[in-house]
Order: sequence, then structure tokens, then C-alpha cells
Amino acid sequence: MNLVDSIRTIPDYPKPGILFRDITTLLGAPRAFRRAVDELVQPWAGSKIDKVAGIEARGFIVGGAVAHQLSAGFVPIRKTGKLPHETISVTYALEYGTDAIEVHRDAIAPGEQVILVDDLVATGGTAAAAVELIRSLGGTVVAACFIIDLPDLGGADKLRALDVPVRTLVSFE
Ligand code: IMP
Repeated sequence: MNLVDSIRTIPDYPKPGILFRDITTLLGAPRAFRRAVDELVQPWAGSKIDKVAGIEARGFIVGGAVAHQLSAGFVPIRKTGKLPHETISVTYALEYGTDAIEVHRDAIAPGEQVILVDDLVATGGTAAAAVELIRSLGGTVVAACFIIDLPDLGGADKLRALDVPVRTLVSFE
């Protein structure tokens, strides 16, 4: 099964007019899941990556597998109030209003090489905020990796403008 066909599209979720790209079908297909992880890490196979940072919640699943594959540590980036130890936080703009994400202050040490992972990049707002968190702890963002890109929303370009190399596997117009 190719990766595109393993991703399910749900119309009108979570709101009317939205086409939600659902990776639970890819995660549930053993060969597709393995292939997605193998392809995401391929440019860094054999490189020294210290940490993989995954964005709540689907970025935990993909990022955990990526971290294992690269023999790196895993760092959760979470919505406000979910992490138990001392955190730093970044607020970012949504279509209506704002949101915030956090990371443990001691999760990344200065100079560490970090790969950021999520399931999908849309506007890039969430991932750009995650880049800011990693950089404010002194980490180097080696790349941002996503299974899915929605190029019309410009997120990958936004990240490249922040000097972050971007890797995506499947695009939906
Ligand atoms: P952005 O900040 O606009 O790039 O939105 C990306 C975030 O929203 C990621 O954490 C995604 O998991 C989530 N997201 C947005 N649209 C979808 C979708 O169609 N399927 C799955 N996740 C989505």
C-alpha cells in the first residue's frame, strides 16, 4: 500500500468545510507505518541526532518511532498545563485567537541536535512555535519532519524562512 492511500480523509471534521487528513489508518497498517518512519528518517540515518521533539498528540506517536530509529531521546511538546516539571512556553496565533505550547526547561541542552516531528504541517504556526521553544533552550533544529504537507497553507515555506530544513512525505492540495 502506498502512503497516500493509507491516509483517510474525513469531510467536515472537526468543522463543516474542513477535510481532515486522518493518519490513524496509516498507523494501523504495519507496512505503511514502518515505511513512513523509514522514509522520514532516511536523510539522517547514521547522523548524530540527540533528541526528537514530537508535538502533541500525533507527533508523539510518529516522533517516538523516529527517535527509536535514530537512537535519539524523545522530547514531548505539549499543550499548556500538561507537563509536570518546570516549563517554558510559546504563544502563537490561530485563525481565531491564540494557543500555547510548552516544553520542559531541562528537556534539551544547549548545542543538542534536534529533529522536530508532527503528523501534518498546515499553516506552520504550531511547528514554528515549537522551533522557537527548541531554539530558546539552545537546541539546533536540524529539520522538521511531517508525514503530510498541505502546501496551499504555506507552513513548510514558513519553516524554511526560519532556516529550518523541512521533510514531508505526502502532499494534499
Ligand atoms: P498548523 O499549526 O496550522 O500547521 O496546524 C498543524 C497542527 O494541526 C498539527 O499539530 C496537526 O496535527 C493539526 N492538524 C491540522 N489539520 C489537520 C488534519 O487535517 N489532520 C490532522 N491534523 C491536523
